[in-house]
Amino acid sequence: MTEEILKVAHLNKFYGKRQVLFDINFDLKKGEVLALLGPSGSGKSTTIRTLNGLEDFQSGQITFEGQNVIPDEKHWQDLRQKIGMVFQSYDLFPNMTVLENIVLAPTKVQHREQKEAEAEAKKLLAMVGLSDYAQSYPRQLSGGQKQRIAIVRALAMHPDLMLFDEVTASLDPEMVRGVLEIIKKLSDEEDMTMLIVTHEMNFAAQIADRVLFLEDGHILEDTPGQQFFKQPQTERAQKFLESMD
Ligand code: ADP
Ligand code: MG
Repeated sequence: MTEEILKVAHLNKFYGKRQVLFDINFDLKKGEVLALLGPSGSGKSTTIRTLNGLEDFQSGQITFEGQNVIPDEKHWQDLRQKIGMVFQSYDLFPNMTVLENIVLAPTKVQHREQKEAEAEAKKLLAMVGLSDYAQSYPRQLSGGQKQRIAIVRALAMHPDLMLFDEVTASLDPEMVRGVLEIIKKLSDEEDMTMLIVTHEMNFAAQIADRVLFLEDGHILEDTPGQQFFKQPQTERAQKFLESMD
């Protein structure tokens, strides 16, 4: 049986009195790529942020690697090491070099050896084609380069799950491909388990094993990727796909 990494059951989330996620249920198996799609405001970022402990939730259950996740800060500090996240805005530390950005958490949080962490960071930089930038500062990099570094920084923690929230949304079009290629490579070569929010439908169609389609905080579809892009189950998803062409 394939190992289940994440299970979300009957998750309900409110901001104040306003409910934004309604009875969310899904699971994610090792090596699986799940695309979380839906119109703006449907709750994609909230879902991802809740999975990473950046938001609390009011009812339901999240199970990560067999452990019941309690929305409690201490517990999250441990779990978050296993869950890598990359957002739309690359949040690199501006006063640190690329290399320092990458080795910071592995050495400070995971207490790994500086030398070993740096050696690994260099390997990861080579993987994303940025070996020459180890000593550069974030301001010297393009948006696409910064985003590739942000991915490397997350990978340096050896996560079991990667969350990507519109990582190419603020990039110039010519920068998008390089970032998406890395995500594709992570799936193809590393068999990384991933949950991806993206507006790049061609990319999603290439990479997604499954699609969750969200609207107004409800999951309308949980459909195999191949099928979703050819023939979604709901008219709402059909309209959504047409609007993205
Ligand atoms: P998406 O990522 O799909 O665009 P979000 O998860 O950002 O959607 O938002 C879902 C809903 O929750 C929206 O109605 C949004 O306005 C609301 N929302 C998002 N973040 C907050 C917040 N911090 N406080 C209150 N409401 C929020
Ligand atoms: Mg969002």
